[in-house]
Amino acid sequence: MQKTDESRKAVQGSGGSQEEKPEIIRLEMGSQSKNEEFARVVVAVFMSRMNPTLEELDDVKTAVSEAVTNAVIHGYQNGDGIVYIEAGICGNELTVTVKDKGIGIQDLKKAMEPMYTSDSTGERSGMGFSFMEAFMDSLEVESQLGKGTTVRMKKRIGG
Ligand code: ATP
Ligand code: MG
Repeated sequence: MQKTDESRKAVQGSGGSQEEKPEIIRLEMGSQSKNEEFARVVVAVFMSRMNPTLEELDDVKTAVSEAVTNAVIHGYQNGDGIVYIEAGICGNELTVTVKDKGIGIQDLKKAMEPMYTSDSTGERSGMGFSFMEAFMDSLEVESQLGKGTTVRMKKRIGG
């Protein structure tokens, strides 16, 4: 049924400021490296309703990719586990949380230093956290040894 302008106003008016209600999605996925792309794309599609620039989209995709890759290769050491991803929009702010229940991080301060990596194969450059920090407006990391790691990132989209 087509709503008249008046009834539409009534619907919007009844719930207070509906535009400001947070919108949330959650995604749980097995810790396979190939799922990383899926997480990145899901978050990108979710945030597209905020009319991001291509640069903002790329920034968020890079940050999500780094966080999910860390959960898979460090948190679960390429073994079995679930990676928990949550994305939320509140006004013009996007929040993305990536959580694992893996090994956790002993020295968080050191882990977050640019170019620090625990990897000894020479494959990693230790820049994941630095990229997340650079491409998002804020980055919070909580970790408990043996319990897991939660990375929370925020970014204001569209000015
Ligand atoms: P790069 O991201 O450049 O490939 P990297 O993953 O080693 O290299 P960062 O992403 O900055 O670099 O992470 C730094 C270090 O923090 C890692 O080497 C690892 O020891 C630790 N770390 C990061 N995320 C996790 C996690 N989810 N669980 C356990 N340890 C982690
Ligand atoms: Mg990394």
